[in-house]
Amino acid sequence: MSAVKNRSMQSGSEIIIIGGGVIGLATAIELRLLGAKVTILCQSFKAAAGHAAAGMLAPQAEQLPIGSMLDLCLASRDLYPEWVQKIESISGVDAGYWQCGILAPRYTDEQGIDWLDTQSIHQHQAGLSQSVVGGYRYPADGQVDNRALIQSLLIASRSVGVQFQDGVKVTTIHRSQGRVTHLETSQGEMSAQHYILATGAWSQQLLPIAIVPRKGQMLSVVVPIEHRANLPLQQVLFGEEIYIVPRRDGRIIIGATSEDVGFAPHNTLQGVKQLMTNAMRLFPPLQDFPLHETWWGFRPATPDELPMLGASNDANLTLATGHYRNGILLTPITAKLIADLVWHQRTDNLLSAFSWQRFESV
Ligand SMILES: Cc1cc2nc3c(=O)[nH]c(=O)nc-3n(C[C@H](O)[C@H](O)[C@H](O)COP(=O)(O)OP(=O)(O)OC[C@H]3O[C@@H](n4cnc5c(N)ncnc54)[C@H](O)[C@@H]3O)c2cc1C
Repeated sequence: MSAVKNRSMQSGSEIIIIGGGVIGLATAIELRLLGAKVTILCQSFKAAAGHAAAGMLAPQAEQLPIGSMLDLCLASRDLYPEWVQKIESISGVDAGYWQCGILAPRYTDEQGIDWLDTQSIHQHQAGLSQSVVGGYRYPADGQVDNRALIQSLLIASRSVGVQFQDGVKVTTIHRSQGRVTHLETSQGEMSAQHYILATGAWSQQLLPIAIVPRKGQMLSVVVPIEHRANLPLQQVLFGEEIYIVPRRDGRIIIGATSEDVGFAPHNTLQGVKQLMTNAMRLFPPLQDFPLHETWWGFRPATPDELPMLGASNDANLTLATGHYRNGILLTPITAKLIADLVWHQRTDNLLSAFSWQRFESV
């Protein structure tokens, strides 16, 4: 069932990546830099979850249990500074990477390892709710401005020679004898030697794999002009029911709801109310900040909330999807591991826990 065993790809080989979000773009760049000829087919660049995210790089604040997912996330966080610099130097577009640290305030006493007591958490952040009794601080976690990142990736992909075709929907993956033969698209039939599925929350429309959209509503406020010189928040607040992500330009991103409503579009009053209430509860100064924007997006959720990476049922189709709530964080490691797998047939141990086959007997 291995996707690429015994097949050596030469320079000039053609790869089609279906989906042009952060995962498709970053993987395309990696493969192009290795010498591959890469085309991305993207139904709607604008719809990608990469635009909607908060951009937190938060393996520790997420409190992932010890195991493969934590290892993958930490490896990706380690890659970030150098990787983002590479993308920026190709594109000339700053992606807003900021290792600002994450503070995780709590309303109830936990006394875990590295617990900050009431006095120290309030020392770490002025303006927190008086109901905050303690929390944790993760200085190595941080953020990237995901909207800037996805633009930076788009421009970088084009400058290295990736063909990015926006507005092209793949409607059917045609297969025969364990291989993909060609794609049917809104622009006609297309084929390549190898295919990579990076279609995020829409993946189930093309393959029978267990990925569903999990909607997240978001909003942003801006720091009033008189406070811009000394921003009141310079680290992410990762609360029990809300996160608050300050950007260096004065925007503050607030998220997120988590809703099983299919691809239902729009912000709802209930969603926005939930965000506003929880944000003002955690950090009351926000109540006087002007509302800037509201939006929503769709996380690609698998049953165990872990990504699907690597070989598929077809020898020339590789999966890079299902990144759920950590796809921005996992972009550099996914791009590296998938490019290595497809181009060099090198399977990293980190990949083994994320095979789609873990759901096969379900
Ligand atoms: C509200 C919200 C907050 C988030 N916050 C964070 C965060 O703080 N940190 C973090 O690490 N992650 C976060 N995420 C998760 C992250 O955004 C996603 O995991 C990541 O963007 C997934 O990237 P992707 O490239 O797989 O999918 P997407 O970015 O969704 O891109 C998929 C692309 O494939 C295209 N496509 C789909 N079907 C087809 C088809 N048939 N033919 C052609 N093209 C197709 C789509 O049009 C789309 O452009 C958040 C997500 C949301 C929604």
